[in-house]
Amino acid sequence: MNLNQSAPPVPPFGQPQPAYLGHHQSSYGGQPGSTTAPTSYGAYNGPVPGYQQTPPPGVSRAPPSSGAPPASTAQGPCGQTAYGQFGQGDVQNGPSSTVQMQRLPGYQPFGSAILAPVVSQPAVLQPYGPPPTSAQVTAQLAGMQISGAVAPASPPSGLGYGPPTSLASASGSFPNSGLYGSYPQGQAPPLGQPQGHPGAQPPQRSVPLQASSFTPPASGGPRMPSMTGPLLPGQSFGGPPVSQPNHVSSPAPQVLPAGTQMTGPPGPPPPPMHSSQQPGYQLQQNGSYGPTRGPQSNYGSPYPGAAAFGSQPGPPQPLPPKRLDPDAIPSPIQVIEDDRNNRGSEPFVTGVRGQVPPLVTTDFLVKDQGNASPRYIRCTSYNIPCTSDMAKQAQVPLAAVIKPLARLPPEEASPYVVDHGESGPLRCNRCKAYMCPFMQFVEGGRRFQCCFCSCINDVPPQYFQHLDHTGKRVDAYDRPELSLGSYEFLATVDYCKNNKFPSPPAFIFMIDVSYNAIRSGLVRLLCEELKSLLDFLPREGGAEESAVRVGFVTYNKVLHFYNVKSSLAQPQMMVVSDVGDMFVPLLDGFLVNVNESQAVITSLLDQIPEMFADTRETETVFAPVIQAGMEALKAAECAGKLFLFHTSLPIAEAPGKLKNRDDRKLINTDKEKTLFQPQTGAYQTLAKECVAQGCCVDLFLFPNQYVDVATLSVVPQLTGGSVYKYACFQVENDQERFLSDLRRDVQKVVGFDAVMRVRTSTGIRAVDFFGAFYMSNTTDVELAGLDGDKTVTVEFRHDDRLNEESGALLQCALLYTSCAGQRRLRIHNLALNCCTQLADLYRNCETDTLINYMAKFAYRGVLNSPVKTVRDTLITQCAQILACYRKNCASPSSAGQLILPECMKLLPVYLNCVLKSDVLQPGAEVTTDDRAYVRQLVTSMDVAETNVFFYPRLLPLTKSPIENTTEPPAVRASEERLSNGDIYLLENGLNLFLWVGASVQQGVVQSLFGVSSFSQITSGLSVLPVLDNLLSKKVRGLIDSLRAQRSRYMKLIVVKQEDKLETLFKHFLVEDKSLSGGASYVDFLCHMHKEIRQLLS
Ligand SMILES: [Zn+2]
Repeated sequence: MNLNQSAPPVPPFGQPQPAYLGHHQSSYGGQPGSTTAPTSYGAYNGPVPGYQQTPPPGVSRAPPSSGAPPASTAQGPCGQTAYGQFGQGDVQNGPSSTVQMQRLPGYQPFGSAILAPVVSQPAVLQPYGPPPTSAQVTAQLAGMQISGAVAPASPPSGLGYGPPTSLASASGSFPNSGLYGSYPQGQAPPLGQPQGHPGAQPPQRSVPLQASSFTPPASGGPRMPSMTGPLLPGQSFGGPPVSQPNHVSSPAPQVLPAGTQMTGPPGPPPPPMHSSQQPGYQLQQNGSYGPTRGPQSNYGSPYPGAAAFGSQPGPPQPLPPKRLDPDAIPSPIQVIEDDRNNRGSEPFVTGVRGQVPPLVTTDFLVKDQGNASPRYIRCTSYNIPCTSDMAKQAQVPLAAVIKPLARLPPEEASPYVVDHGESGPLRCNRCKAYMCPFMQFVEGGRRFQCCFCSCINDVPPQYFQHLDHTGKRVDAYDRPELSLGSYEFLATVDYCKNNKFPSPPAFIFMIDVSYNAIRSGLVRLLCEELKSLLDFLPREGGAEESAVRVGFVTYNKVLHFYNVKSSLAQPQMMVVSDVGDMFVPLLDGFLVNVNESQAVITSLLDQIPEMFADTRETETVFAPVIQAGMEALKAAECAGKLFLFHTSLPIAEAPGKLKNRDDRKLINTDKEKTLFQPQTGAYQTLAKECVAQGCCVDLFLFPNQYVDVATLSVVPQLTGGSVYKYACFQVENDQERFLSDLRRDVQKVVGFDAVMRVRTSTGIRAVDFFGAFYMSNTTDVELAGLDGDKTVTVEFRHDDRLNEESGALLQCALLYTSCAGQRRLRIHNLALNCCTQLADLYRNCETDTLINYMAKFAYRGVLNSPVKTVRDTLITQCAQILACYRKNCASPSSAGQLILPECMKLLPVYLNCVLKSDVLQPGAEVTTDDRAYVRQLVTSMDVAETNVFFYPRLLPLTKSPIENTTEPPAVRASEERLSNGDIYLLENGLNLFLWVGASVQQGVVQSLFGVSSFSQITSGLSVLPVLDNLLSKKVRGLIDSLRAQRSRYMKLIVVKQEDKLETLFKHFLVEDKSLSGGASYVDFLCHMHKEIRQLLS
């Protein structure tokens, strides 16, 4: 493009205003460098010392600045509730939008009249097909017909909620049960379980970590013997035998925590969890390897209360109809607490195939001994049916939730980087799988057999090594790729785009400076923050400064590019008003090193708020902004990330122009799906171009009304980016949340220009993918950017028979460019068991992961099917899963009894939470944008995030002694559990409430809020006063700790009992009937029981 490069220098834009002073961000003082984990990549120098790296420095950062916010002139129409009700006001139509930009001092348009005729580009925006997976969804939905049965009429509120009537219920003591922190050493007894059995090891594979690793369990012996094999030479984990966690098996099916044990006509009593001396030990063996399976007499447990629904001919029921005791049905809190007590005290060692890891809610350490940590991969089941017929019968989805760049706790080492030199990583010639611990070396080490496709490959001379007497390479423990589940390879130039090593990535900040953005104080706040935040761009290893370059664009209806070259005294602005034909008007000086250009950048950030302070422009463009950023990266030949700060529906005349098509009347109609679909294909086309360039887009939205999140989030979604939404943004109320999110987002380590491929051993293959990415074929997941929070969920199907002996293998390979511009491959391997008995499948499932998959499946389904169809499909699938268990695995019993598999006993309660979530069953207060936003968020959530998002955590604050500093035990998310004399925190990863009971003690009110009575507490308060007393410190500390656990800042909302805000709060009490018609847990369980009975009859 032929450009007149003589850009007019821009004079200083106005004087700094006095109000501007005193707004310095001081929060970064003393903050050293990168805050992210992967800084500790090190060469792998051998087994022992290499494993004991020091944790990366600086994991925590200073609290956000609380400097005085700039005065905002905005008087927004919005409240401060979590669901911003978009005000109808003068905002969008506001002041005249026709003010010429020339009115800005020194503002010199770069002459679109001159530039526009130069190039006449053909239209680039072409409709792009529907998401590639839609056909599959539809097919599945069509294949699962279900009668439109609805939940039985729920009992009147309160009925059935009386004090526990079930004598078997022990969970009445729940609120007083032990605190999470107390895991006495050695109290988690080893349970016999299949994985430890030597017979479980595939004999023909020379798997280094498994061969001869285990002494057979002494039948009925009190403890499992130590596992010594997998220990690296000279390595010691210290403390108790490392084998312990492997032998505390996944929840044994027989075991019911006391709180949920309410057998009516009981079978044999389930063996207690804490005893391995039980004769029942043999029954816990994997049927495939242990003795012949006996009848599963105590497998699962009947839930007699549920029987009351439906007219079964069974034996007399112990409870009258509709008196189902909430304490007698499986409690998420109890399950979570049991797992913490049983599995939280010792590391999870990954050396054994098919182990079910501890729950995501349990705090545990991981020792990588050949399989990827559950922080990287979690599966719906760790034991896969051998045949597709079995899988179809059970209807249990086979899926893995993969988080390739997951951050690790400081105690766990980041994956080692392996350099195979010029020849690149060693791979199978046929299937291209990467060298891993499961490859089998043969012929004295001269060849290896691929564990994925069985192809025999030559070992290159430089990689040759002798084998020991077990057939294992003698250097196996010196090489991460032969002994660990996760590691990285340095990529050669063959793995780089255009056969050229990549340049370091760039970040471009693109700031909406239209009337709304200025008026709310956003622009001033953002510019001030960036001045200090740019010192904390991600860096790698011990690098002194970040390799990431930065650039700046502001925009409304036109775009303003800035030259911030270090040699300039002042930044220069260039305006591109021809938004239909976007180009980048400058190359040199646009993307710069932060340190070199610091003075010019600071000057620019000082000037931007002043330059546009008087703007009357309300219209914005959107697609051209992304286009510009992408073109800039293309011109600089690098990957990177765009940070877009945007306020309104882009109605200005330009590509990607949108209209307001929000229509709540479509809810519950066949056209509801259109609310979730983008209104134009232009953004998909644009996203595709971005992906090709490695241009990831993070979008920060500040809407005052409908902005069509469904359309605006298309590019972030397809480029692996993030969307943040701050409805009715007001600096005073929202700056802490926004700045906290921004800081975290800018600093997080990202892999750019990434491609992920999941390979599987013969018999299964990856068939479907969920997450924020783009796919141009059926196997490669393309991610312009991928950060440590993003998850890709992969579904598997059979394409052949699996083998119990060899099991099934997954290998996830992620090729990416690091923040420093290094091309790498990250490899994660995971071995799963295979079974011919359905009971083994049901015993090795993970319900949290199942829910993660089912939510993503459903949330994608709403793009193509009526929401009711999607809900019905979920219910049917759940009923089929449980009916298959009942039919094939449970002992014969009355049809009136609901019998749930131990590992899935929370499936109904969690599924109900998905069904009544805002996307699938919106309440009146939920906007279309809220729904699109949440739908988009859930798509890349990991298992821990979906768990708390769908079933929020409710923590009583005044129940435990005030001196007790550990996190209080949670209570079930139901109004029934709230005591009006107490105070509770509720969080779901996005929202945080402090609920205050009306009868709470005056002293507590005084300590926490600094006022003398309940009535004086400000409803909707978002900051607790800093008071110097134990309770105040404890509660504020707990809030900080909850925030630190989540990837997004949760703004606090104080809710008083009986206050109008309480409606909002009650929305999150997910065990109760919801205002939008969602069933209570009790009702849903009865409904599920009815569905199961229909399937069985
Ligand atoms: Zn192969």
